[in-house]
Amino acid sequence: MDRKALAEPPPGSPANPIPLPKTKKTLEAYYAGKRLESPQGGHLDILGIREGSTGLGRVLMECNTSSLRFVLRIPKATKTEKADIKKLIEAGEDLFCPRHGDDQRLTKSGKNWICALCGISYGKS
Ligand SMILES: [Zn+2]
Repeated sequence: MDRKALAEPPPGSPANPIPLPKTKKTLEAYYAGKRLESPQGGHLDILGIREGSTGLGRVLMECNTSSLRFVLRIPKATKTEKADIKKLIEAGEDLFCPRHGDDQRLTKSGKNWICALCGISYGKS
């Protein structure tokens, strides 16, 4: 086996983005729609948002000064958030992201109600 083939891609490369600290401050700024500051200086531009395999959201970002890639993991929906959405589904109400607020509708993907900016499901119907 070639040792090089086993080596991890360098941190910050597209295949190996650096995890951003999942602090309340970072998440709140993200939910508020603010541009996040890069740990390298400058800002982070959002490249894409994916649903993670374990129910976490993955927001891929690129630093506009270093071009390093970062990833912000969005925590799963809480029991309270799910319970609130469930009530709204049952009442036939419009669904909005409990974190992003009333500008961000949840969209249906299969059985799941997803926030496209969080990359997570808040409920099923
Ligand atoms: Zn959201």
